Amino acid sequence: MPDQASSSRHATAENAGSETPARPTPRTDADGEAAAGRSLIEIDHVDFSYGSNQTLHDVSLEIEAKKVTAFIGPSGCGKSTLLRCLNRMNDLIDGARITRGAIRIHGVDIHRPEVDVIELRKRVGMVFQKSNPFPKSIYDNITYGLRIAGMRDKVKLDEIVEKSLRGAALWDEVKDRLHQSGLGLSGGQQQRLCIARAIAVEPDIILMDEPCSALDPIATAKVEELIHDLKRRFTIVIVTHNMQQAARVSDRTAFFYLGRLIEYDVTQKIFMNPSNPQTEAYVSGRFG
Ligand code: ADP
Ligand code: MG
Repeated sequence: MPDQASSSRHATAENAGSETPARPTPRTDADGEAAAGRSLIEIDHVDFSYGSNQTLHDVSLEIEAKKVTAFIGPSGCGKSTLLRCLNRMNDLIDGARITRGAIRIHGVDIHRPEVDVIELRKRVGMVFQKSNPFPKSIYDNITYGLRIAGMRDKVKLDEIVEKSLRGAALWDEVKDRLHQSGLGLSGGQQQRLCIARAIAVEPDIILMDEPCSALDPIATAKVEELIHDLKRRFTIVIVTHNMQQAARVSDRTAFFYLGRLIEYDVTQKIFMNPSNPQTEAYVSGRFG
């Protein structure tokens, strides 16, 4: 029977002291707390409900820093719900809440009252299924969040625009039309613009919910290649219903079914030699 005490099992020497006093916002320590392979996000016995409808049941998993973790499973199994828990996007839905368990990032429970949600969402960025650039120029799409945060230095903003667009493998395609509308780009370019916008604020973690499902195969391949590059700098959690994509881009894969985590392991193991017969049936295409 899991209890509160079990959560201390996950504590490491680095974060054990961070429960009291709470750091209000999760941060990367200067000494490189988010080194590759270290657990960055801890999902600890989470139950989640929309009103009276329980959607997630006792989900526990630890997500490693600077890796790509994929959530797979049939439609409606709770992948997007869990993803949205990680930056509290579900707060925006009436009656939606975690009813048991906790989510910690850098050892800090993100639901503690003193956590600044705006700051949390800066640290934990998100890219959606349907690209959603603002109806603004390419340049303004990227600087929007920074300007809201009060940045006015034009030289610095120019630098960040270039760095973010290069980071999203889009710079060469748009450098001559930075002041034209982001909506004039192709679907794949728009999605990479949204990725550029997400990385402009230097998050620790990027959540991606089926980021390629509206894209053609060539645009999909570009975004997949980009994900591969981005994990050198960011921790990425991706929801995908495309199993080949999960197999191609992720280091670890979590398979969900009916709101429960069925199996979580290195991606190759999940696809080549899963331990659970339900995972086996799903990855071999027998249901879903
Ligand atoms: P997936 O991303 O795996 O397809 P979701 O997390 O979107 O699954 O959905 C899990 C369950 O929660 C489904 O039964 C879905 O109908 C329900 N659900 C999702 N979003 C909402 C919402 N905003 N309000 C109520 N129920 C929801
Ligand atoms: Mg979904």
